[in-house]
Amino acid sequence: MSTNYKAELVGVFGYPVAENPTVVMQEAAFQQLELNWRYLTIEVRPQDLEAAMMGLRAFNMQGINLTIPHKVAVLEYLDEVVEDAALIGAVNTVRRQGERLIGENTDGKGFLRSLRQDARLEPSGKRTVVLGAGGAARAITVELALAGVSHLTIVNRSTSRGETLVKLLQDRTPADATFVPWQGSYSIPRNTDVLVNATSIGLYPNVHDKPDIDASTITPNMIVCDVIPNPPDTPFLQEARRRGARTLDGLGMLVYQGAIGFKLWTGLDAPIAVMRRALERAFDISKEGHEEGG
Ligand code: NDP
Repeated sequence: MSTNYKAELVGVFGYPVAENPTVVMQEAAFQQLELNWRYLTIEVRPQDLEAAMMGLRAFNMQGINLTIPHKVAVLEYLDEVVEDAALIGAVNTVRRQGERLIGENTDGKGFLRSLRQDARLEPSGKRTVVLGAGGAARAITVELALAGVSHLTIVNRSTSRGETLVKLLQDRTPADATFVPWQGSYSIPRNTDVLVNATSIGLYPNVHDKPDIDASTITPNMIVCDVIPNPPDTPFLQEARRRGARTLDGLGMLVYQGAIGFKLWTGLDAPIAVMRRALERAFDISKEGHEEGG
């Protein structure tokens, strides 16, 4: 067999992008499966996205991840957007099928897979409270709604964002949804099964910040989740554990959304444990104080 020096290319377009850790887990997966693939972290300014997408086609890349600020803007450069990504209104993963570029959103699917596999919870029929109404919250709530949760309560600081998300869920998914404006300390309804922090509160470097909720309303029957991947054991999750609840961290969501992207691109099952370990090393996470979520 003749030698093939050509690598298959994927990567991420973002601005800023230098601190995006995805390269670490995707390259670890390529090495584990001995694939001659490369993941490139590429800085693309907003005004250059169209040219970058032409470059993607010209280089015959297998696909790309999109991060801030390109997840919505990329929609107009794609040939197709799959149904859930179209509902969410944002694409974080593009795959190539022949000459066609197809947009997907793996964020909410990654959360769902982490919920099912790490927390062993089937969301169907569950009552869920989600803090936040931004991109992560949209992706998570659309997937939860499509997975059959019985009710979604969206709690958000900005009323317009919260109401827009609730209208989307009510009009275009089977789930029942309610908006609650976030004013002062929020009390979690007693019948809640799943509570998700989908805000950016607690993200590095503001690692001591916690969402403003009445912690005494967290009960042991709840599963409490956070989207913050770094550091994953947030003060919010620590508090929930003190109240007897089970917790699920945002590192699992990050790993699974990457694993789903890996499968979309390569057609192969991703080595989940290898990817998670690579991210833990990159985030310099010690094993202490990190009990769940993987
Ligand atoms: P957005 O900017 O789209 O949304 C941020 C949300 O957080 C909004 O609902 C905003 O409320 C709320 N918020 C921020 N600060 C406060 C505050 N001080 N008090 C109350 N609400 C606040 O961000 P994304 O949705 O894209 O990202 C949110 C988080 O999700 C980030 O930390 C990101 O790292 C994480 N994430 C994790 C992923 C994973 O795989 N683990 C994947 C994707 C994202 P308002 O509308 O009022 O401004």
